[in-house]
Amino acid sequence: MKATVMYGPRDVRFEDRPDPELMKPTDAIIRLAATSVCGSDLWPYRGLQPTDEPTPMGHEYCGVVEEVGRDVKTLRPGQFVVGSFFASDNSCPVCQYGYQTSCQQTEFVGGAQAPYLRVPLADGTLVAVAETPDAAFIPSLQAVSDVLGTGWFAARAANVQPGSTTVVVGDGAVGLLGVLSARQMGAERIIAMSRHAPRQALAREFGATDVITERGDEGVARIMDMTGGLGADSVLECVGTQESMMQAIHAARPGGHVGYVGVPHGVTLDGQQLFFEHVHLHGGPAPVRQYLPELIDLVLDGAINPGKVFDLTLPLDQVAEGYRAMDERIAIKALLMP
Ligand SMILES: [Zn+2]
Repeated sequence: MKATVMYGPRDVRFEDRPDPELMKPTDAIIRLAATSVCGSDLWPYRGLQPTDEPTPMGHEYCGVVEEVGRDVKTLRPGQFVVGSFFASDNSCPVCQYGYQTSCQQTEFVGGAQAPYLRVPLADGTLVAVAETPDAAFIPSLQAVSDVLGTGWFAARAANVQPGSTTVVVGDGAVGLLGVLSARQMGAERIIAMSRHAPRQALAREFGATDVITERGDEGVARIMDMTGGLGADSVLECVGTQESMMQAIHAARPGGHVGYVGVPHGVTLDGQQLFFEHVHLHGGPAPVRQYLPELIDLVLDGAINPGKVFDLTLPLDQVAEGYRAMDERIAIKALLMP
């Protein structure tokens, strides 16, 4: 098959790779219905994270089971499945607590920007959809696999409650779906921080009640103005820089919650400052597996349409164009069709 390999900054190639094979009896092979480029793929693309050797890319996926190992009990070929970026057994104590990304057997699932993918711990990792979904649902099911699941975790970690005031830092795809998640969880006021017109429009469509363009200290001052000097109950941090993290912490009210899902790059927190902020901090790699059944149902019931976050659809062999468009912020997020 041909698949996506990153060689270094701005060097993404679509080239011959061996077809994936079952390596363990708990594996499954799936044929992808769709795949996509993640905001986190842009860190190595921009050279902000080293690429030591040519690396197969992609970790967002849904598709049809082709083949299962002999120990796979709950899945069979032909089923439509959605998974997430870390394989998990979904049964160890950590998984039982709902933190499947820290599963005792966890394994990163890489190489999904391809026609076929090997998924470890298939019984625990994959969630089968009862019937093969209509093609119109594919973008939203694809979004569930990472970007919505991550926005959802940000909102859960930020303790979004009905009637609360929520701020979303970051207008990438995760931030936009963090807005959608906060809306689903009943936030009354949702303030999106964005200065890009198409993203502002999508934020409003997903449920933002206010959009502000200021950032950093000015952004925090604006949030304080809008909340009677208090700060927000919940803040979703969906970027991962020092500025965005401090913006999120300062925008939360005393006793408020910050849910952070932007992969930190160069973020350091000052203990003294943190001590006097009085905020709850919770975040990390989203345990998307915990939310898959609920989010798949919301999509198939037509309650949410997170697939709208894909504003560029390309054939998989044009994957390099997808990276370029996202890097230049021409596209919010690229959907790739094998
Ligand atoms: Zn586990």
